[in-house]
Amino acid sequence: MSDCLFCKIVSGDIPSAKVFEDEKVYAFKDIEPQAPVHIIIVPKEHISSANELTDENAAVVGHIFAVAAQLAKELGFAEDGWRIVNNCGEAGGQTVGHLHFHLLAGRNLGWPPG
Ligand code: AMP
Ligand code: ZN
Repeated sequence: MSDCLFCKIVSGDIPSAKVFEDEKVYAFKDIEPQAPVHIIIVPKEHISSANELTDENAAVVGHIFAVAAQLAKELGFAEDGWRIVNNCGEAGGQTVGHLHFHLLAGRNLGWPPG
């Protein structure tokens, strides 16, 4: 989608600190980290939010969780623990209209979230 920030990051039109990439997903460091590790994982396909997920396009979400688990092992925080978060819609805290998951680690993460 031409005016989507994360589509532009996936295409390389906007620079990012890439952490991982394969044919389906792209992962990069969040520009405003909320934890020592704060990685954004997005599907390369433009999906506006979790509201748009269906049986036809939702397989990528399972793949994103598998990528997160792989990154947790590779980056060394699998044993300590980590969190994956999706914000959906305005009240859910979503500010970028391209489905994305926050991978957070490196400190004790509070619960419940704000
Ligand atoms: P959300 O509020 O769930 O929609 O998350 C959007 C996230 O994207 C926020 O954590 C922002 O800090 C992050 N973000 C916005 N612009 C950029 C960018 N150019 N590069 C990396 N992360 C970004
Ligand atoms: Zn997009």
